[in-house]
Amino acid sequence: KQIDVDQWVKSVCRYCGTGCGVLIGVKDGKVAAVKGDPDNEGNKGLLCAKGYYLPQVITHSERVTKPLIRKNGKLEPCTWDEAMELVTAKFKESIANNGPDSVAFYGSGQQLAEEGYVANKLFKGAIGTNNIDGNPRLCMASAVGGFTTTFGADEPMGCLEDFEHANVFFIIGSNIAEAHPVLFGRLTDKKKKDPDTKIIIADPRRHRSHEIADISLQFVPGTDMALLHAMAYVIIEEGMADEEFIAKHTSFSNGKEAITFEAYKEFLKEFTPEKAEKVTGLPAAQIQEVARLFGEKGKNTMSMWTMGINQRVAGVWANNLIHNLHLLTGKICKPGSTPFSLTGQPSACGSVRETGALSHLLPGHRVIANEKHRKEVAELWGVPADRISPQAGLHTMELFKACGDGRVKCLYVMCTNPAHSLPNVNAYQEGFEKVFLVVAEAFHPTATTKYADVVLPAAFWCEKEGVYGNTDRRTQHLAKAINPPGEAKPDLDILLDLAQRLGYGELFPFKTPEDVWNEYLKCTTGTHMELATYPALREAHGIQWPVKDHQGNKGAVRRYVAPEDPYVKEGIDFYSAKDHKAVIFARPYLGPAEVVDEEYPYYLTTGRILEHWHTLTMTGKCPTLMRAVPKQYVELNPQDAAELGIKEGDTVRLVSRRGKVEIPVRVGKPGEPRPGLLFALWFEPDPLVNAVTIDAVDAASKEPEFKICAVKIEKV
Ligand code: SF4
Repeated sequence: KQIDVDQWVKSVCRYCGTGCGVLIGVKDGKVAAVKGDPDNEGNKGLLCAKGYYLPQVITHSERVTKPLIRKNGKLEPCTWDEAMELVTAKFKESIANNGPDSVAFYGSGQQLAEEGYVANKLFKGAIGTNNIDGNPRLCMASAVGGFTTTFGADEPMGCLEDFEHANVFFIIGSNIAEAHPVLFGRLTDKKKKDPDTKIIIADPRRHRSHEIADISLQFVPGTDMALLHAMAYVIIEEGMADEEFIAKHTSFSNGKEAITFEAYKEFLKEFTPEKAEKVTGLPAAQIQEVARLFGEKGKNTMSMWTMGINQRVAGVWANNLIHNLHLLTGKICKPGSTPFSLTGQPSACGSVRETGALSHLLPGHRVIANEKHRKEVAELWGVPADRISPQAGLHTMELFKACGDGRVKCLYVMCTNPAHSLPNVNAYQEGFEKVFLVVAEAFHPTATTKYADVVLPAAFWCEKEGVYGNTDRRTQHLAKAINPPGEAKPDLDILLDLAQRLGYGELFPFKTPEDVWNEYLKCTTGTHMELATYPALREAHGIQWPVKDHQGNKGAVRRYVAPEDPYVKEGIDFYSAKDHKAVIFARPYLGPAEVVDEEYPYYLTTGRILEHWHTLTMTGKCPTLMRAVPKQYVELNPQDAAELGIKEGDTVRLVSRRGKVEIPVRVGKPGEPRPGLLFALWFEPDPLVNAVTIDAVDAASKEPEFKICAVKIEKV
């Protein structure tokens, strides 16, 4: 049917890291329709249900249209001036009395790059605290750690086009069918066109993605490292290692010091398929079969993973082990051969990892710990060299703990809902109550705005201009399509206003998002993650960095390889790594922080579903999606359900060492999930499944282990 619109505006989906291009049909200043952008490489015109129903969310009655201030315990409308004066006074007072580290910022992988850049500069460069973190700490921090330790720099070398060239897909810890549905569509298309394509899904839980799997590996939760080491063992033992590639492009390490290839082989003897069988619960023959498929010479293998690998206390190490498999076989930097992390949120890469808006980072993939990096950024920002502290700021879990114990007195939360999304969330309630909390949000109420002292009405998605950076180093421009409702403003404008009121106006002379971008662009010069110019981004349907010298519309489809990567003269060059060699790690085996025992005999894991996004602040406003899946549930294996005398629709109480939650039951088909494992959706604000999850973190990435904790189950 012909849709009557005044214009189609180019934008990007607000949800997952795929970054599907969308075209917004605007009629009389309102969003009348949304369709997939056929010129976007990420989705080639397709959208999933969440993408198609984006317009229903925008006009919801819970949009915040005026600033709110808490008076006598109640949030009441006020003027912008009143709200911003209160925020400014509280931040100034705290900084004066308790120092800059008494204030903090918590952002999001859904904020725009310009917003992330300005927030980072305001807190690190102007105020002088590194207490700025964001929800990518909860989702991609371990992937960052994996890329930086193995290759010396963050973010993947591969691209979405690799789907077309791969013969084998190794997907571990990812329900791609529901978390990245459009990419799942690409996968099914590939399998249809080329039935010889092999798809391996490794996940303790059988889910929708398994429907197209040739091999399903349902290992014991938290034993992923044993599986990955055993695959490496088979690859070497059966002569599938690419010795020439290994000699030329890799080095070996045990995490403390360099080791030889021989020492690595010796290390792997602890991970024969037979030994791994005892740990993972997978038959040794199946581990061999999968390793052979992965390593077969002449075939291209693409690995994909997401939260199942990242949200682990061994998250960085498990990431390293996936890279190991590609480095051992030389299946990397070639069409269809690549490790490829699937980013959870739309712009965790572009707005947080690249702008350096985490407590240990600086823009352009620089790090706080590096003196040269601090000096470079201080100079670019026009602030004294010692303004940026050499100490990393508080990472997410520590930050919210600090709100409770009084180290942090004022917190600015933008574009996210931590009072729902943190693990072991009840332990952090005191912090939300005590801290002076500013929440810039499009909707109220949310679990976090309920604690807010000030709510600042934020423009939403297509109501502002900016840039997202999606899963495959793809930078994409979003044009403003409509005006925000009432007095809502873009987050960028709110941050610039705050900077002005705090007395840092001369550091923030920006009038438009493009002005911000032009300064940010200078921070990326010479960093190997140079971004494209604003005019180029406006024109293009996504440009992949590095774009050397910010020239033209042509980005690097693949990284570290000539001719695609402008920094490589010929062949493959891991130029960010020490001696240009990527590291193959002999990481010691590490299971989950909490294992099942007599008292808590079941593992609990949590995850997404296709129809809903995280904490329901957006998809909960969409009647069509709410009708499709109105309630969260816990899924039990039928064998476990029968043994416990629990039926579909019963309500059960899940109890962990931290808390409890009552939740209805869905009894899965056999293997959904593996016996002994429970799977819960966590999108409802009440009751909170995160009352039960664990806040143990990976020692390096500080990402919590949402994916595994021990629980008992009681019939209510
Ligand atoms: Fe949006 Fe992800 Fe769906 Fe694409 S796959 S439409 S980016 S939620």
